[in-house]
Amino acid sequence: MADTVHNVIIIGSGPAGWTAAIYSARANLEPVVFEGASPNIPGGQLMWTSEVENFPGFPEGVKGPELMERFKKQAERFGSKIHSENIEKIDFKKRPFELTSESGEVHRARALIIATGANAKLLGIPHEKDLMNQGAGVSACATCDGAFYKGEELVVVGGGDSALEEALFLTRFASKVTLVHRREEFRASKIMVDRVKAHAKIQLAMSAEVSGIVTEKKKVGPFEKDWLVGVQLKSTKDGSVKPVKAGGLFVAIGHAPNTSLFQGVLEMDDKGYLITKGKSSNTSLEGVFACGDVQDSHYRQAISAAGSGCMAAIDAERWLAEHSS
Ligand code: FAD
Ligand code: NAP
Repeated sequence: MADTVHNVIIIGSGPAGWTAAIYSARANLEPVVFEGASPNIPGGQLMWTSEVENFPGFPEGVKGPELMERFKKQAERFGSKIHSENIEKIDFKKRPFELTSESGEVHRARALIIATGANAKLLGIPHEKDLMNQGAGVSACATCDGAFYKGEELVVVGGGDSALEEALFLTRFASKVTLVHRREEFRASKIMVDRVKAHAKIQLAMSAEVSGIVTEKKKVGPFEKDWLVGVQLKSTKDGSVKPVKAGGLFVAIGHAPNTSLFQGVLEMDDKGYLITKGKSSNTSLEGVFACGDVQDSHYRQAISAAGSGCMAAIDAERWLAEHSS
């Protein structure tokens, strides 16, 4: 075990983790960041996306991986120490906390900032992930990508509040939205269901699932790329399949926060998101702070994750100042 006791270890390198690193490094806390490694993605969810158009400060838009590279450089500039590994185990009973990384090395820290993010659940059908990664017609975030689909016919999958909210949001851009849900009853709140049913642009496909994706080659700059042009809709009642034209497929079947490491120790809600206290980033355990999507099932945006990373660094800094003796 290394003798060094760090002031703060940050787990995660999405917008929340890097922002926490920038702030704590500028506060001379010499933070150590575990940026993750396969199957996690250093840089987080934005590494999956091509164009980010809603991150302030980039009026022309910015590629997700480029944005995350800039976050990382800024954190490095102020002296953050970076490990390209996953944290596999945390002993929360010990003070300082003891974290074991993949290499088996134990790292000690007085305070912890958790920024392990969340992942959108996907349908698991062929082409879905590839097209999503390439920004070629599949998305899990209407707020992020809706504006790319002006005048298109779109398909949204899911029956919860997220899916209905996404369907309503997408009507601003789409010529038509088909909302696909696997049962006859929606899980979403009545008010959302009423709004969706009343909307002229939304068509419901109940007791149905998207069982396949149809693509065509499209010329993008000098390259040819597979692009979504439709989906196969399969009835969950009789198994019959029909094609539906679609310029975009939005999967909105829920998210899963990366909180397995904290199970049984830190307070979570019924979906596994970490609970933070009031307006702070304080978790249920003294000296442990959480930021970004791992504690936010509501906004799930890069800028809100970054903002909460700043809060976590300031909370950690103040907590360390009060508890150093
Ligand atoms: P994440 O970005 O999820 O990062 C989590 C980090 O934790 C990763 O670095 C991972 O490696 C690390 N990690 C996890 N477990 C461990 C572990 N055990 N040890 C070490 N590290 C670990 N938002 C926008 O505002 N605009 C957009 O245009 C936009 N587009 C999007 C497009 C796609 C395809 C997706 C999926 C999301 C998009 N979002 C967008 C949402 C945005 O990406 C997220 O809200 C944001 O990335 C959340 O940041 P985060 O730092 O909380 O977590
Ligand atoms: P959710 O409530 O868990 O709903 C997920 C939906 O996806 C369900 O309808 C589910 O179907 C469907 N689904 C799950 N796996 C599927 C699969 N493999 N194939 C097809 N469909 C699948 O998730 P959510 O909609 O993201 O909402 C999460 C929480 O945030 C909820 O508490 C919600 O109320 C809240 N929220 C609130 C608002 C708002 O108030 N404006 C907006 C968004 C979210 P089944 O119903 O058959 O299980």
